[in-house]
Amino acid sequence: MPELVDGLDSKSSAFGHVGSSPTAPTSLMGTYNRLPIAFTKGKGCWLWDKQGHCYLDALAGIATCSLGHSNRALRIELSKQLKKVQHVSNLYQIPEQEQLAKWLVEHSCAEKVFFCNSGAEANEAAIKLSRKHGHVVRGIQEPVILVANGSFHGRTLATVSATGQPKYHRGFEPTVKGFQFFPYNDTKSFERLLYRLEAEGPKVASILIEPIQGEGGVNPGNRDFFLRLRNLCNEYQILFIYDEVQIGMGRSGHWWGYQQLGIEPDAFTLAKGLGGGHAIGALLVNQKANLFSPGDHASTFGGNPFACKAGLTVAQEITRMSLLENVQQRGEQLRQGLLQLIELFPNEFEEVRGWGLLQGLVLKDTTNLTAQTFASEAIKEKLLVGAAGEKVIRFAPPLIINSREVSKLLLRVKRSLIRCK
Ligand SMILES: *Cc1c(COP(=O)(O)O)cnc(C)c1O
Repeated sequence: MPELVDGLDSKSSAFGHVGSSPTAPTSLMGTYNRLPIAFTKGKGCWLWDKQGHCYLDALAGIATCSLGHSNRALRIELSKQLKKVQHVSNLYQIPEQEQLAKWLVEHSCAEKVFFCNSGAEANEAAIKLSRKHGHVVRGIQEPVILVANGSFHGRTLATVSATGQPKYHRGFEPTVKGFQFFPYNDTKSFERLLYRLEAEGPKVASILIEPIQGEGGVNPGNRDFFLRLRNLCNEYQILFIYDEVQIGMGRSGHWWGYQQLGIEPDAFTLAKGLGGGHAIGALLVNQKANLFSPGDHASTFGGNPFACKAGLTVAQEITRMSLLENVQQRGEQLRQGLLQLIELFPNEFEEVRGWGLLQGLVLKDTTNLTAQTFASEAIKEKLLVGAAGEKVIRFAPPLIINSREVSKLLLRVKRSLIRCK
């Protein structure tokens, strides 16, 4: 089965046919194991394939389509923008970019924003920023960035090197140097690593960490652990950087994942949910991390009027429709429903974990069932879910999902499970 994850691991497994149509010859490179379904229409939380079958989308283009499909405001605002101007480059002022940056700064702990086009690119910017901080602020010649086991930061060479999952490195070594790994949520191991690295003077530039690990298995960060990291960063003048590419922009039920933890970073990255399905990434920094000067970093497409208009519209719609509250309520409904399923199937499931509308249903190690198999059976029940690692079924529906749709989702999860047995 294809893995429905950000990683889209092409080496994972044989292709499993889900629908009836055989796969046609393709001119595409073999980077993905695609399912044999093509969606031709979307509305809200629903997608239709060419045959007219209707699917409940509980993955939202991997946590990107925050306003669901074919959102009215996005349609109107982006059509208008297409008729005005689409791209001019960062050689000139871009009012839409200014507006989105202003909105982000007014609604977060950040003071400045850099725009790019994807999560990996936003993290690349964070990695370069870290190195500059290491050189300029801490006087380190070869700065080290601390990253967690089980993390996912992207597929470019530097971000894949920062990713704490060896399966993504295999075949692409040598990885970029300057990253050291620690176990997520493990204070003692972290302290040991930091004290060892800092024993003979400054060595560490930053910590890059997800407030909740998405692709690595929907693992929420532990508040006490993050508080310790925050304090150590202050003590050592290390930048504390969150990768909020998946959880940021409302998915946790707060605007930002760091609000769920109650611990602010010095910088954080966004992408997935920010454009409501359109390509945009961002690095946000506080005063201390505002280190880039002209010439340090750039992106041709970054912050173009179209992408920024998408981001602005997503922000406005989340506000107008009180979607943060909706995420909290629907997230709780989803969680409670999944907990009931665990009671019904105690041999299959271990636990439910997550924040808001990013939830992971964890399969027991003792079952043969994998998240992949479950996801493919779910398609037969017209439900789209993802896998986060081998044993975690990932739910990341649009933030607009209503209670009736969550009930349908839960019913389809139950039916899919019965199919798996
Ligand atoms: C998806 C993801 C990325 C990579 O984003 P791309 O837009 O695919 O480059 C990075 N970090 C996290 C936490 C993600 O979930």
